[in-house]
Amino acid sequence: MYYAYKYRLKPSDAHREELDRHRDICRQLYNHTLYRLNKYQNEHGELPSMTALRSKLPDLKKWWDGLSDVYSKVLQTVVERLFDNLKGLSALKENGYGVGQLNWKPPREFRSFTYSQSGFKLDKKGGQTVLSLSKLADIPIRLHRPIPDDATLKQVTVKKEPTGEWFATFGVQMDREPPEPPETPEKCVGIDVGILKYAHDTDGTAVGSLDLSDERERLEREQRKLSRKQHGSNNYEKQRRRVAECHADLRRKRRDFLHKLSAYYAREYDLVAVEDLNVKGMMESPSNSRNTASAAWRTFLSLLEYKCKREGTHFVAVNPRGTTKECASCGVSTEKPLWVREHSCPSCGFEADRDANAAWNILSRGLEKVGVGYSESTSSESRCDSDVRTRAALSSTPVETALPVDTPVSAKRVVEAGSPTLKKRTASAVSE
Ligand SMILES: [Zn+2]
Repeated sequence: MYYAYKYRLKPSDAHREELDRHRDICRQLYNHTLYRLNKYQNEHGELPSMTALRSKLPDLKKWWDGLSDVYSKVLQTVVERLFDNLKGLSALKENGYGVGQLNWKPPREFRSFTYSQSGFKLDKKGGQTVLSLSKLADIPIRLHRPIPDDATLKQVTVKKEPTGEWFATFGVQMDREPPEPPETPEKCVGIDVGILKYAHDTDGTAVGSLDLSDERERLEREQRKLSRKQHGSNNYEKQRRRVAECHADLRRKRRDFLHKLSAYYAREYDLVAVEDLNVKGMMESPSNSRNTASAAWRTFLSLLEYKCKREGTHFVAVNPRGTTKECASCGVSTEKPLWVREHSCPSCGFEADRDANAAWNILSRGLEKVGVGYSESTSSESRCDSDVRTRAALSSTPVETALPVDTPVSAKRVVEAGSPTLKKRTASAVSE
């Protein structure tokens, strides 16, 4: 399996200058190659081969001062990247899509370059971890979470964000295959991702959405300030960077939250059932106000899916039709407008929070879909043996204890509930 690990770099001023210089040489090579390719395509009606293209690099170095300052594999990836882009574009054109041409890249739009296979490594120098980049520098890096020991580093992309910060993203190959999901999962959970609350699961955990109102306020304030600055002035540029920082801060916090939440479920459970968002999205046809929420779900589910795969956890996406209407205890459907927050079954009398009831239905459908470990045994722990047993467990337990009254849990608490890397992280933070 292939993973990406992203870390913040801590370059000195001299490092920054070098990083920017290399970035700009790559950009110029990109633009130059684009020019040559367009010319070739106009003359020959087709693209040259990738090998032909790469073989031009040594010639270029003969007259291009500075090109040899950049590690040769980095230059190759610049050419490859452009080539892939162009090929994708011509494929679209052949299929009748009206696509334009690739554009010349101004400095602001060319932000990253990549070391592939060789020319980079993680090292220790002067008591700190550095990313050693061939022909560039040893740049201090903040490894806030470790890369697994048995992982092979395939490549690293260094990127400058609009805030001016530099990040390194490693492409990592895991040599071992991820564990197979268990045949008889013991700890199972259904998660209802809601609009009012962020998520509600069958263990009675309700996770509120992240409170980012302070961050949003700050962003608005900085944006207002920006609108008062003279466009193009030094102060404008400074303020533009501040606005970019606010955006980055929001994005980082949101993503971090979703990472932690998905990691929690993937690690803690053997089976995780959620609603299939593609179907759900169609059913609810999100209006503009809901687009953000649905984008966050999408991210959450895709993170959850790959983390489940990595941890050997069943990930099941079920048909969301009627999960809120159906009674988790007896299966009878009742109409329920959005503002009705409680589920109270007219048929069997089962009462629960609306979202908890939905979460139980999602879990039942998930277990049914996976078809795992159906068993007649009455072990008190094997609640997830089947939906039949789920319902049996529900109806045989007093409602109050079957579904504990939910106190919304902050994202922080959820995370602390047991993730080894987080404990390690806190431990290392303390020892720093
Ligand atoms: Zn019922």
